[in-house]
Amino acid sequence: MKNYRDLCIDLLQERGVSLHSIAEVARYLQAEYHENLQAEQFYSSIYSVLDKREVQFAVMVAIEMDMQAENRNLFNKELEEILLRDEPLFGVDEVNAYGITNLYGSIALTNFGYIDKFKYGIISEINARGKDGSECHTFLDDVVGAIAAAAASRFAHGYHKKDEPFEE
Ligand code: MG
Repeated sequence: MKNYRDLCIDLLQERGVSLHSIAEVARYLQAEYHENLQAEQFYSSIYSVLDKREVQFAVMVAIEMDMQAENRNLFNKELEEILLRDEPLFGVDEVNAYGITNLYGSIALTNFGYIDKFKYGIISEINARGKDGSECHTFLDDVVGAIAAAAASRFAHGYHKKDEPFEE
């Protein structure tokens, strides 16, 4: 079966999310445990997270839902409106992202809850961009937060130490 990692990286980029911006959120989540952490130290963990098929599917579903809503393409216009206004009680976007955090244990889950509440960096930028209704990022903020939370969890467990030196 195909590996959709590069497709997902392109989709994220098209929706205004760079790998560096995700790495910056992961760094923020681990900053209190390590001195002088750099976002670049999370690149290999983010690649590893994005290598997992379940993660790729969650990213693809998230971005497709957002884009279909943004282009007013949904058959269900009530659902379209819910997505466009990022209805606070609509939790399917978080549930989709749990598919990512569930693969990385309890640290990923608590990090995800934290970053979902105290939006940092790209997460708050994505939220702001969705506010006027011209763009829809209802699903995107959650998968981005979940990728960062998963990468931070992988880092906390020390798996990054086995990674090959990362070259861009
Ligand atoms: Mg959301």
